[in-house]
Amino acid sequence: MSKIVGVMLTLPFDNVFDYKAPDEVKIGDIVRVPFGKKHEVGIVFKIGATALLEEKKIKSVTEILPYTLKPEFIKFIEWTAKYNMASVGLVLKMALCAKNAFDNPKLHILYRLTGKTLAEAKLKNSDARWHVIDLLKHAPYSKAEIMAGAGVSAGVINTLIDSGILEPVAVQPKIQAQHFNFNASHVLLNEEQQVAADFLRAHQNIGFNVTLLDGVTGSGKTEVYLDTAISTLKQGKQVLILVPEIALTTQWLKRFEQCFGTKPYQWHSALSQSERKNTWQAVISGEAKVLVGARSALFLPYNNLGLIVVDESHDITFKQEDMVNYQARDMAVLRAKCENIPVILSTATPDLETIVNVEEGKYNTVKLINRYASAEMPDIQIIDLKKDKPQKGDWGASWLSPSLCTALEENLQKGEQSMLFLNRRGYAPLLICRDCGSRLQCPNCTAWLTEHRAQNRVICHHCGYFTTTPKCCPDCGSENGLTACGPGVERILEEVKFRFPLAKAEIISSDTANSFKAISEVISKMQNKEIDILIGTQILAKGHHFPMLTLVGIIDADLGLMGNDLRAQEQTFQLLSQVSGRAGRGDKKGTVYLQTLYPENSVLKAIVSQDRQSFIANEKQTRRMLCLPPFGKLAAIIVTSSNENAAQKTAFLIAKTAPHEQGVQLLGPAPAPIYMLRGKFRYRLLFKTLKTINIQSLLQTWLTHLNYPSNVHVEVDIDPYSFM
Ligand code: ADP
Ligand code: ZN
Ligand code: ZN
Repeated sequence: MSKIVGVMLTLPFDNVFDYKAPDEVKIGDIVRVPFGKKHEVGIVFKIGATALLEEKKIKSVTEILPYTLKPEFIKFIEWTAKYNMASVGLVLKMALCAKNAFDNPKLHILYRLTGKTLAEAKLKNSDARWHVIDLLKHAPYSKAEIMAGAGVSAGVINTLIDSGILEPVAVQPKIQAQHFNFNASHVLLNEEQQVAADFLRAHQNIGFNVTLLDGVTGSGKTEVYLDTAISTLKQGKQVLILVPEIALTTQWLKRFEQCFGTKPYQWHSALSQSERKNTWQAVISGEAKVLVGARSALFLPYNNLGLIVVDESHDITFKQEDMVNYQARDMAVLRAKCENIPVILSTATPDLETIVNVEEGKYNTVKLINRYASAEMPDIQIIDLKKDKPQKGDWGASWLSPSLCTALEENLQKGEQSMLFLNRRGYAPLLICRDCGSRLQCPNCTAWLTEHRAQNRVICHHCGYFTTTPKCCPDCGSENGLTACGPGVERILEEVKFRFPLAKAEIISSDTANSFKAISEVISKMQNKEIDILIGTQILAKGHHFPMLTLVGIIDADLGLMGNDLRAQEQTFQLLSQVSGRAGRGDKKGTVYLQTLYPENSVLKAIVSQDRQSFIANEKQTRRMLCLPPFGKLAAIIVTSSNENAAQKTAFLIAKTAPHEQGVQLLGPAPAPIYMLRGKFRYRLLFKTLKTINIQSLLQTWLTHLNYPSNVHVEVDIDPYSFM
């Protein structure tokens, strides 16, 4: 008997395709089906036919894989697609992202007794043979296990197989379940932490709810949410901890292991194919009890999820702008809602959206207002670069003001550690020719090339294009015209080495940190006090705990404030507060120096006085006035094409057909700030509505019926973070 089912494929479609399938197939089953010339994996989304095809034209499902997605998860996939205006197929693709998990799982061969005796097989009794038979009375084992367990050679086993006393059985390799030792060494919470932990435990079994765990840097938020995680695990449920990818270092993992006596499963972009496969299978089978992962871990098929934690929930890397645009913090809340479980958002600098949700009573909150133990919040001092000008030296231009240099010198004398923060990779953000004024530009993007001197390369940070740093100016041929403009972390390292030749200085940025191993190495060196001055990009802001770090220097506090996008102020506040939060986490108090040309800037003032309340109040007022998120809704529409004219025409067509109603406004089209990206021309439109309007359904009716050439791509980014 067979029936017709609708299969959703992992391709950019919203609709299902019809296939014949055996009767026992049910919704959620993962199947393989013929599609075009290939075979594709998909899930059974619907029972019954959708298209009106002749029965004989409908192909059959070729394979039913031994996995089924739960209804709660399917609902989440559909809602995610709808909210973010992505196709269901592409969201499903994120869920089935371990392709080789569906290839024939390698079978594992074990041996068991057939019941035939040694006498029947005309074999002599020997100790070795008896040891094997004894061992296999309890359970089947692999050859290697038998050799080890019975202390025999492979020859003994082969004889037993050949004579029919042992027979092979093929089994799916068993996935190692995690074993927890809860008494390992979970810390004793202090009073404030205990209050927070009690609150979270009390909200653990009441279904969906969101709690903001709002605690200053170093207050022990991790210890508090691990407490809830433990109690969830004790109920046999799975726990998902989402972290910014870069925070997944050995430091965090070690701490986890100390607490649980075992490693968590991990999910991030550096996993190998086979690790992805193992983890995916362990997640769906429920063997993986705790998973720590980057934002994409949210789309794994947990079988029994009991808790989601979003650590550093303010972090902008939770926003994905690739294939499917989504904000993982918000989608974590959505997933928790689908699964009817609690979610914890943990941060020292909550975003305005979360704060407003707390104020409106949609989210709970618990606070930790003190650093753990004797650690105090650091002193924050502003250095006015107009008065305290960096002084040139033998090495050339300088970016460290005299007062910062003095402070660094004193800190070195005391044998304490320092950190310099500059959110710019490479040596210099730009190369200019002094003779003709031309600048090195990326051939594929409207962007300058960054000099990476250590690699002798210039690199585009938007598309990855690189080439050897030219010796002469490509425009005028001048031999020594090309000059580095401005600093990147490599250049700061150069200056530090000149000024403090005896100090052990190192750099950490996403270049160093191509592999987790590289980051982890620098971080453990820092922990072991093998580094005096650590220089780095925003990687330094995330969650690290260095008790001997007492000085933080922010080279250019104005950098983030220059962009005029809607979150520039908020992101600068968060980033600088987080970086500052690295100082003085042990028993010595720390000092933070902020170098700026604009000491009167209100964001910097709020950081200095550590006055989050007044910063938030200001920010809220501005956004409310301008009807920006969370007080209004925004969607970016990005039109790209390798044909400039087609891109422009489509952008204007979109504008012309925009809905006109109360409470909606369209800005643009305008050429995007990065007009050309990866060789494609780009236009942007910004669609703004009141909070009460369903922005997705407006966009849906407006954009889906539009006719534009197939070489143009139109993408929607709901609640955009990047305006480039
Ligand atoms: P946060 O995540 O709020 O920045 P952490 O959880 O990293 O803070 O805690 C800072 C440091 O203090 C960590 O080394 C942590 O192990 C330690 N700590 C926090 N609370 C306790 C506690 N109750 N007992 C022992 N150590 C603690
Ligand atoms: Zn030139
Ligand atoms: Zn480029």
